[in-house]
Amino acid sequence: MSYDCPETLPISRNEFSQIELFKNVQFEKLAGFLLKCTIKNYEKDEVILDLSTRKKAMYILISGLLEVIVESEKDVTFTHMVEPGHCVGEMSVFDNSYPCAKIVAKEKSKVLYVPADTALSMVRVSHELCLNFLLMLSQRIRKDNMIVCEEQYHIRCIEENAKIDPMTGLHNRRWLEDMYTREMHRSNMGNFKLIAFMIDIDHFKQVNDTYGHLAGDQVLISVAQTLTRSLRPSDMPVRYGGEEFSVFLPGTTDENAKIIAERIHRNMENMSISLADGTILQVTVSIGYAERIENDTVESLIDRADKALYYAKESGRNRICKNCGEDGFKLI
Ligand code: GH3
Ligand code: MG
Ligand code: MG
Repeated sequence: MSYDCPETLPISRNEFSQIELFKNVQFEKLAGFLLKCTIKNYEKDEVILDLSTRKKAMYILISGLLEVIVESEKDVTFTHMVEPGHCVGEMSVFDNSYPCAKIVAKEKSKVLYVPADTALSMVRVSHELCLNFLLMLSQRIRKDNMIVCEEQYHIRCIEENAKIDPMTGLHNRRWLEDMYTREMHRSNMGNFKLIAFMIDIDHFKQVNDTYGHLAGDQVLISVAQTLTRSLRPSDMPVRYGGEEFSVFLPGTTDENAKIIAERIHRNMENMSISLADGTILQVTVSIGYAERIENDTVESLIDRADKALYYAKESGRNRICKNCGEDGFKLI
């Protein structure tokens, strides 16, 4: 292998020593291979390789900046930058497949073009180069893992937010479908106690009509807060829709359900809501509740609680009513 003619080498010894990938690699060891490499200059925005490129080669960036653009079939794009001293295209060289990304020069860039067979020969003769590759690939995997984790976290936040009612901060129907179903299944399997509440603000339309929709919103927020502070952490309040709320109370006896319903009722009655103009509003709620029975579904349990709520409304509102099944309704 000859390296006697430095003028025919595409990069100088000095440039060689600046390349991260050649760190601790003896120039003499690779000089013969470098003769088979060429320098390529790219203008800003010029495409260096893309998915249609059929030549397998490694591109070592000497100066400038490259962007790697990975596009999935599902229209998701992932990009990262490559700085001088690092390379692109090496995956095609190692796994002998075609490029899976598009590489674009983000600035005027100078690149050392290393044909695939030359790159593989270089790796075979230099353990140091091999180690540098491993280091570079490890760093990339580590970085990509972090990106994937952050993306996952981001997706989870979006999913969580989709299950929260933005106005009251309570969970919404989408969350209910998932979590109530799980709780019902757990209770049915273990024959655990489970109570469902349906709660509806009395004459809420009048609040909107008299004080305006914004005042109505303020009432909904206050009712949600009062409901939450009247419950235990294991209880599952949901904004069921409009001015209606549901609660699943796992592991709750009939006796405790009555105590909790009375507490909610009392706290709502004692609640004063101050509007921006100084008006103080008070509202009442009606509550219907039912106990889980064998083979209940979320729908059947909520339906019985809802019927009890209807009975409470019919009985004059501002009441608590229990659905006692075949024994009818019982006002508390
Ligand atoms: P009842 O005692 O029988 O429950 O009477 P109500 O007036 O409370 O019930 P109705 O179903 O007649 O009216 C509910 C009102 O709730 C009508 C609707 O405009 C209002 N509403 C639903 N969602 C919202 C909301 O997000 N903000 C506000 N301000 N009002 C809402
Ligand atoms: Mg109402
Ligand atoms: Mg209603």
